[in-house]
Amino acid sequence: MRILLTNDDGIHAPGLKLLEEIAGQISDDVWTCAPAEEQSGAGHSLSLHQPVRLRKLGDKRFAVTGTPTDSVNLGLRLVLAEKRPDLVISGINAGENLGDDMTYSGTISAAMEAALAGIPAIAMSQAMRSERSFETAKAWAVQVLTPLLEVPMAKRTLLNINFPDLPPDKVRGVRVVRQGFHDYNRGSVVGGTDPRGKNYYWFGLNQMEHTLDHGTDLEAVADGYVAVTPLHLDLTHHAAIGTLAERFAQ
Ligand code: MN
Repeated sequence: MRILLTNDDGIHAPGLKLLEEIAGQISDDVWTCAPAEEQSGAGHSLSLHQPVRLRKLGDKRFAVTGTPTDSVNLGLRLVLAEKRPDLVISGINAGENLGDDMTYSGTISAAMEAALAGIPAIAMSQAMRSERSFETAKAWAVQVLTPLLEVPMAKRTLLNINFPDLPPDKVRGVRVVRQGFHDYNRGSVVGGTDPRGKNYYWFGLNQMEHTLDHGTDLEAVADGYVAVTPLHLDLTHHAAIGTLAERFAQ
């Protein structure tokens, strides 16, 4: 199995190094094509207004001076153009990607890009509320991935895996759950004046509040489980189609 790895924390991130070790336990044909710099919060952005460069850092390692989406694109179109990967894994992100945070996530968007290209795709993130450690992802990743890889993935779907911020032996198991939602209170914005006298604004990330709906990714990770959420790229709100179409009926 040929595996392409990427992330949004950048080619030098410790979570990517760990992912390379983990993927190496599954396959001996592992490639990496990841952003040259940190791209957290980049979402599904594609660089349209400036060129990007592809830098070869090793035998099967490449850095892209762009976004996670750019990295997957160049990975598929250039680096692995002759034999496409059978699987794309994005991560392991330093920090959870749960609930509606997914739409900001470069980690998940990289997996979305692969899913759109028809390649099975998985995003992996390690919750890090108390300390910055990948210990739990390291201990649990292969046993979570192995059974998931046996199940064929439907077209334009991907898997979102989050490891809880607990010591590995305190993790209670794996739950397959739906996406939850945070309460909307992201708004940490700091203002200032730059050296040339112009105002600037800088976004920060608040600790997100949320109501723990039952059966969600947010609840599972809070309860000490590894959360596995199948996602799909059909953003249509199907239930609204009929109601809206009636407005235009003759
Ligand atoms: Mn990140």
